[in-house]
Amino acid sequence: MTAIPAPPPGAITRFAPSPTGGLHLGHAHAALFAATLAAHSGGRFLLRLEDIDTTRCRPEFAAGIGTDLAWLGLVWEHPARVQSAHFAEYRAALARLDGQGLLFPCFCTRGAIAREIAASGGAPQGPDGPLYPGTCRRLSAADRAARLAAGAPHALRLDMAAALAQISRPLSYHELGRGRLACDPARFGDVVLARREVPASYHLCVTHDDAVQGVTLVTRGVDLQAATDLHRLLQELLGWPEPAYAHHPLILGPDGKRLAKRDQAPTLAGLRAAGIGPDEVRTMAGFPSPVASIAPA
Ligand code: GLU
Repeated sequence: MTAIPAPPPGAITRFAPSPTGGLHLGHAHAALFAATLAAHSGGRFLLRLEDIDTTRCRPEFAAGIGTDLAWLGLVWEHPARVQSAHFAEYRAALARLDGQGLLFPCFCTRGAIAREIAASGGAPQGPDGPLYPGTCRRLSAADRAARLAAGAPHALRLDMAAALAQISRPLSYHELGRGRLACDPARFGDVVLARREVPASYHLCVTHDDAVQGVTLVTRGVDLQAATDLHRLLQELLGWPEPAYAHHPLILGPDGKRLAKRDQAPTLAGLRAAGIGPDEVRTMAGFPSPVASIAPA
């Protein structure tokens, strides 16, 4: 049975899966955690499909999410937000950061970055991988303009030092059950906010959408807790409200490792097909008692 921290009254929570595979028990846990906190606080429970990476997301997985959640007995507000329908909003948020002089185009391929890091004897490790060595931040304005004019593929990176210089007070957030935790967004370095192949990043879209959907309590696994440091920075730069956070432990497989799609964790659809009922699956996901249903607002 999962321990549930006391949510603030009327918490608006969301479950935000990426439709890159079937939902598994880890997703069931995350969805039940978010829905339970909303229900306990007399709040609202939202659903969002994080499908910006159109190379990895598939419509059949998106369709399966609603089926699986309804089977678990969850009630969410309709319609769910679908990120791929909102690229113009993410572009507008990027334009605002660009207008503040906080973005730079990065023409480096992954291979070029790896070679540069190896040549300089290594780079500190950030939550998303080794820190970017700053190659394209140092390009001359003329070089940058010429490459853009030639249509060179590029990502957009946040100039972390410039962004931090705009922040007048130390950043922190309220973690349920723990109080205020200090943020260290610099550990992400010049993080990518729009990729070469996808015009927006997880960090930008999740922060944007939590703001526009009015999410007041962000719940997600502890594996994403480091990202909150960066999300607080983006909220501050873009004038978005600060939600509270509740990062929950991950459900582990029999081998003690976190469940992941790539490890062929049994899917909810697979468990259902094997004749296992929703009560049993909820119990396996740490929530034996049914979630009080939440009427849409
Ligand atoms: N879409 C993310 C995932 O599937 C979760 C986003 C979030 O909760 O912040 O891991």
